[in-house]
Amino acid sequence: MKDLLREGIEDIIPYPPGKPIEELQRELNLTGIIKLASNENPLGPSPMAVKAIRENLVKLNRYPDDNCYYLKQKMAGKFRIPEGNIILGSGSNELLRLIAHSFLSPGQEAIIPFPTFLVYEKIVQAFGGKIINTPLENLRVDLSAVIDSISENTKLIFINNPNNPTGKALKTEEISRFLESVPRNIIVVLDEAYIEFATDPAVESGTRLLESCPLLIVLRTFSKLYGLAGLRIGYGFASEKIIDALNRVRQPFNINYPAQVAASAALEDSGFIERTLSVIKEGLEFFYTNLDRMGIEYVATQTNFLLVKVPLGAEKTYNAMLKKGVIVRSMKAFGLNDYIRVNGGLPEENKRFIEVLEGL
Ligand SMILES: *Cc1c(COP(=O)(O)O)cnc(C)c1O
Repeated sequence: MKDLLREGIEDIIPYPPGKPIEELQRELNLTGIIKLASNENPLGPSPMAVKAIRENLVKLNRYPDDNCYYLKQKMAGKFRIPEGNIILGSGSNELLRLIAHSFLSPGQEAIIPFPTFLVYEKIVQAFGGKIINTPLENLRVDLSAVIDSISENTKLIFINNPNNPTGKALKTEEISRFLESVPRNIIVVLDEAYIEFATDPAVESGTRLLESCPLLIVLRTFSKLYGLAGLRIGYGFASEKIIDALNRVRQPFNINYPAQVAASAALEDSGFIERTLSVIKEGLEFFYTNLDRMGIEYVATQTNFLLVKVPLGAEKTYNAMLKKGVIVRSMKAFGLNDYIRVNGGLPEENKRFIEVLEGL
């Protein structure tokens, strides 16, 4: 098979997703399983999004609007960014792929702090790019290490802010200064999948830096705050020239019709957004209080998830919790062998997580 594959494809280790509830159900014949492994919204999808999908199902015989006109209009209003600076993707993951496809030639370098979201490196590998990892400092992205790694061959830089899986964030001011020292032939991707959960007022969206940084791309998603992970829809903001480049490699109709109407509705579902932020805040506080009581270390977070240092180690803890019907994420694939990652859930799910962890 190796002879048939494009060079480098065999070296890619497929992305390890969080275990689906149904899969564990099949394997262990368990019921009442809870999943706190993929940073999904524990409240379900935005009810207004569900309503919009229901009302529009009869249109499924038609191709969706390739340009997502109405959705972009709503977004332009909400985020105060012109339609021409917006692109939609089948999850922000598709946008990551479009960026590499448009800009990364084989052999060019992409700087990726590690540990971070594993999808970046898979995509760079898929397009024959070279991964340059930079270490974190105290589990936070170290922007000076990124600057030091820039070479003549650098084409892309990926910054996840706040960073998955560590939960730590960079201040907008730090990012602004960083962008000033990045040479103007390098694309900087700022992935803000969790920015809405940040509670530190100094941690804001980088969208306000777009005007002064023509090669900045800001990515966001409907998967987390809006509860639409299963629909696959994410979005990006960038200059018109970058949006034009990405549209050249985008498949037509990449955003299905239910996703378009659901995302439009979810943007305006302020009640759901508020409830989500408050259930996450309460969940994290519950975790902090109980982990403190148990003497277990964790990393204070700016996201909807928490990195927890577990005495038994990542894999043992993950597997033991699985057997009790609690799905979390082992951080072994991220090089953090002593940690699991758990996201804020419903109050009863959070309680179950703590009870099971305490019983190990
Ligand atoms: C969850 C997540 C995303 C969102 O991906 P989608 O494809 O939009 O579901 C993007 N980046 C990071 C770091 C994430 O954790």
